[in-house]
Amino acid sequence: MRIVIIGNGSGGVELANQTSSEHEVTIVELENVLYYSKPMLSHYIAGFIDKKKLFPYSFDWYEKKGITLNLGVKAEVIDRARKKLITSDGEIPYDILVIATGARPREPIFEGKEFVQTLRTLQDAEKIKEQIEKYEDALILGGGFIGLELAGNLAKAGYKVKVVHRGDTLLGLDEELTKVIMEKLRNNGVEFYLNANVLKADENGVFTDKGHVNGKVKICAFGIIPNKEIAIKSGIHAGRGILVDDHFRTSAEDVYAIGDCAEYSGVICGTAKAAMEHARVLANILRGKEDRYDFEFRSTVFKFGDFPIALIGKTKGEGRWLDENTKVFLEGEKVVGAVVIEDIRKATTLERKVKARVSVNEL
Ligand SMILES: Cc1cc2nc3c(=O)[nH]c(=O)nc-3n(C[C@H](O)[C@H](O)[C@H](O)COP(=O)(O)OP(=O)(O)OC[C@H]3O[C@@H](n4cnc5c(N)ncnc54)[C@H](O)[C@@H]3O)c2cc1C
Repeated sequence: MRIVIIGNGSGGVELANQTSSEHEVTIVELENVLYYSKPMLSHYIAGFIDKKKLFPYSFDWYEKKGITLNLGVKAEVIDRARKKLITSDGEIPYDILVIATGARPREPIFEGKEFVQTLRTLQDAEKIKEQIEKYEDALILGGGFIGLELAGNLAKAGYKVKVVHRGDTLLGLDEELTKVIMEKLRNNGVEFYLNANVLKADENGVFTDKGHVNGKVKICAFGIIPNKEIAIKSGIHAGRGILVDDHFRTSAEDVYAIGDCAEYSGVICGTAKAAMEHARVLANILRGKEDRYDFEFRSTVFKFGDFPIALIGKTKGEGRWLDENTKVFLEGEKVVGAVVIEDIRKATTLERKVKARVSVNEL
């Protein structure tokens, strides 16, 4: 079977890895660079790892796996009637087409946005790294996981780091957990400005509704916009992302979507961990095995500088601290979620228990 994958990011490369021994796999990738790890970009910017560490797979790896890799090629539109992908470099026939086009950063809309950068690609990272090394400060706008990861790593590396965030809590968590996260990051030197809306940026900083915050290097991490344009152009249903069912099927026959570009019932997963899990589940489905992805249950580990944090299942509502690093969330007596700070081994055990919806007395 000919599988054509659009996108050589976390989801695309994992799907190619999983399916190439059984199928003829072709990847079409817009960027003219081998797969690199986006979760490692802030470690690279902070100077903790060499550039080559970002690239786990060589050209040789693709060749040995029999994967045809087309770099620097844009997928333009899907000719569904003829089952051909039209690209900037010609047509590619497919039996199965998988859209794994990821997402791009949400751009700021305030005045002076030309003074602000966003972080998604290696090219973005190179630019930010160069400026941070020159000015030795970072003003991060947005307290989502990408902003906090960057803040934690840059502060650990000794840079002066500020985070401006419009909400009063971080990562959609409650006030107690927000306090713990801020405390840990403050210990590394990160300054927080919560409840502050950015109104304008200039060369020296940003003006918020709570006052001016200085910072030469400004990085905006306001969330992501799924890359759904190819689906729309090809007459495939899309909302915020490309609409899929729990088998990653789009509205078009033999066309699937995985990773950051896919939306299931309002959910866009937005993590590399999820994109890779999508790829593994889809590989099973393409093998003819019965499998589905549970979009309702999410679990992720982030590392903000030195401290890791795991978010498992539902992390809102009635919560109870098990110890100073573990808070579980309950529906009645059933455990439906947990946040674990530092102890990631414990997070793995808890994840199994949350999935099994054990009672809080069984923990
Ligand atoms: C700085 C940073 C830190 C992160 N940290 C973490 C973390 O700690 N943990 C975690 O789980 N996740 C993290 N993420 C999120 C994670 O990287 C993404 O969720 C993941 O990369 C999504 O994988 P994907 O395959 O859907 O998309 P991507 O990895 O974005 O890959 C999509 C690819 O498709 C290509 N493409 C797009 N349109 C076309 C087209 N028309 N034709 C051809 N090619 C196209 C793009 O160039 C891109 O290479 C981080 C992201 C960033 C930016």
